[in-house]
Amino acid sequence: MKSKPLILKLGGSVITIKDKPYTPNPQVIRRLAEEISRAKPETLLVIHGGGSFGHPLAHEYNIAKGYREKRQLIGFAKTHQSMVNLNRLVIEALIEQGIAAVSIPTSSLTITNNGRIELLMEKTLVGLLDMGFVPVLYGDAVLDSSLGFTILSGDQITVHLALRFEAEKMIFGVDVDGLYTEDPKLFPSARLLREIDLKGLRDVMKGFSGSRSVDVTGGMWGKVRELIPAIEKGIRVVITNALKPENVYKALIGDEEIGTIIKGS
Ligand code: ADP
Repeated sequence: MKSKPLILKLGGSVITIKDKPYTPNPQVIRRLAEEISRAKPETLLVIHGGGSFGHPLAHEYNIAKGYREKRQLIGFAKTHQSMVNLNRLVIEALIEQGIAAVSIPTSSLTITNNGRIELLMEKTLVGLLDMGFVPVLYGDAVLDSSLGFTILSGDQITVHLALRFEAEKMIFGVDVDGLYTEDPKLFPSARLLREIDLKGLRDVMKGFSGSRSVDVTGGMWGKVRELIPAIEKGIRVVITNALKPENVYKALIGDEEIGTIIKGS
């Protein structure tokens, strides 16, 4: 690869209205595409979450827990299709801004085992990155070698690829200003953590209380738990509020005063 990639995860809470089923946030998607285009990182991978496109269906058909009955098959198909629909909006916005974004359907590339990535075919991704494309993956319903199928979170994909490709940095765009001592939507006294290391992160996890709306993949707690192996490998993480203009742009150009920095150890 030409240079170490930057990996940008756009949260479902950012690109959709999380409490309104199947409702995107097109203004935010457009603005983020413009910020990415202005920052022009040399090697960039984008992963997005499902928000209100993924979680309600996955929840209704209990996809994350695996195959139990035949009626779930249509639920799997609907969940995946809903993610394809959301992905189309993201890809179109990026292309409109002149970014050579290529949609990569996660479910065709990946198999998990008990919810953890067992296989993720990388060759296409590496080829695309080498040529200067911006591959865009997303959290999705995927086949699972023990469960039949499950839900694979965008967060797990992000960390997996950051480790495989020795990413320079992971940027998580979410709907709050960064990582707090506890959920800022539930606890007004929660304190924003500006800079934290692995030990600090482990301490924060002890006090966690999950996110409010339906999130089949674990909310902020799930995100932070996923991050640990990457932080152990020295990969830097920025968690920033992508609903606020310029934060993602700044994170991409290396200005990190915009949320929480988790230092790789
Ligand atoms: P996304 O789906 O956008 O990736 P999540 O919903 O998984 O984001 O996680 C973001 C949410 O996590 C925030 O909206 C916030 O309410 C919740 N949350 C829970 N605990 C914390 C915490 N300690 N710090 C920040 N956010 C937290």
